[in-house]
Amino acid sequence: MRVLFATSEVFPLIKTGGLADVSGSLPTALQNLGVDIRILVPGYPAVLNQLDDLTHVAMLKNLPVIENAELLMGTILDNDINVLVIKATGLYEREGGPYVDANGQEWLDNPVRFGILSKVAAILSGPHSPIADWQPNIVHCNDWQTGLAPAYMKLVEHSKAKSIISLHNMAFQGCYAPSWLPTLALPSTHFTLEGFEYHGQLSFLKAGIFYADTITTVSPSYAKEIQTPAFGFGLEGLLSKRGNELKGILNGIETDEWNPEFDPHLIKTYSATKLAGKKQVKAALQERLGLHVDANAPLLGVVSRLTHQKGLDMLVPILQQLVNAGCQFALLGSGESSLEHAFRHLAVNNPGKVSVTIGYNEPLSHQIMAGCDMFLMPSRFEPCGLNQLYGLAYGTPPIVNATGGLADSVVDTNIITFKNKTANGFVMSEASSASLLSCIKQALNVFNNDAKAWQQIQKNGMLQNLSWDKSALEYLAEYEKLLGKEFKIKDSLKLAR
Ligand code: ADP
Repeated sequence: MRVLFATSEVFPLIKTGGLADVSGSLPTALQNLGVDIRILVPGYPAVLNQLDDLTHVAMLKNLPVIENAELLMGTILDNDINVLVIKATGLYEREGGPYVDANGQEWLDNPVRFGILSKVAAILSGPHSPIADWQPNIVHCNDWQTGLAPAYMKLVEHSKAKSIISLHNMAFQGCYAPSWLPTLALPSTHFTLEGFEYHGQLSFLKAGIFYADTITTVSPSYAKEIQTPAFGFGLEGLLSKRGNELKGILNGIETDEWNPEFDPHLIKTYSATKLAGKKQVKAALQERLGLHVDANAPLLGVVSRLTHQKGLDMLVPILQQLVNAGCQFALLGSGESSLEHAFRHLAVNNPGKVSVTIGYNEPLSHQIMAGCDMFLMPSRFEPCGLNQLYGLAYGTPPIVNATGGLADSVVDTNIITFKNKTANGFVMSEASSASLLSCIKQALNVFNNDAKAWQQIQKNGMLQNLSWDKSALEYLAEYEKLLGKEFKIKDSLKLAR
């Protein structure tokens, strides 16, 4: 079984969100099961600079717009995984992010940048691949950036490989004017309802969903939700038509990266059986952020993109009330300027009690996850969400809205779930400030009045198996279905099946 895992970001090389985490973990977990897997990514400067063993593999010819590009291969040493890199200087080697420039504006040539990523994935799986000795029988695409790959595979490259697309977030679809069709050498006969046309535009994501042989998304609840108008972003009809081929597989977490027992970003490590270190981490975090060092003050944390999806606007009107009741608050994130401004304002008004860090900071994200008492994630929709899983692993019970992967991973604390030791957090009854407040109050009630019960909730989360191994077996089962045969995995892993 040879799998080409095509993605626009991969941790630790380049990351803007959860897709990078998945791309950094799932291929390794599959490789550990014995799958022969290679990742395909664009050659952004961060990728070229960090892979120091890059070697020439082949020239890629007849590409749209740029004609030629070079294919290189290197390894991410930490996880010993092969990465194929498309070196196309004019397309990928520039200052700024993978999708936007330094001012946050989308790169105008994104259709070409990700059209070529898709095209290369298709070429490598087809009869004209320049790599003679490694041909994938599965191309695993991720989100809109690789959505055209299944279309190119079927319509242009006539690839025999099977394709699978994983949907990490339906909110981003890659829709562009139809004038891009000839530029991208896509057959205009398929610019129809039964093809990649979407309300008069070329939709990369729709192409992926329409032409891929199978579809996965990152939690069972999100798989159901996206078949409805509230969550499908207009593609619910197509998704429910393909409902039988749509499977939700909950993400895991990278337990080497996110583990309070070994986390190098913490001044003290801790575990479910030795929780004491968490207190020191909290004190260090309070000190670092200029909060009053106070073990008893409940410290609420957020690490997030500040967008409508994440629901943090619901927190703004109730935060002062929580602070007045003795809570502290630490936020790390960036996004919509109105939200950044609202949180900054709360920080200025509450010195020593509210800390707001605007920006992206990997070590601080670990410290907030570990040092806080509770983690807030009131997302309006959340395909899977990783931060609530990190919260569980770090003994920082998540307070979440009941949607997508949050609903699939956080078990609300009540008499029954507390007794059967499944309670691991607190779940809102609806997406509103009132519901968020009442949910936080329930958590505070346990935190302030029953330390033993709180510890139990922490431990319930910390002792869960949140690793990728389980999810990787589910992806493997999807690959097997596509190829119509069972794959021989190592005997030692059979039990997990
Ligand atoms: P999404 O992919 O929708 O942004 P997820 O919860 O699935 O949300 O994943 C977000 C990932 O990005 C997590 O690993 C989280 O820790 C990280 N992250 C988000 N914002 C920041 C930030 N400002 N600084 C550091 N890490 C961040």
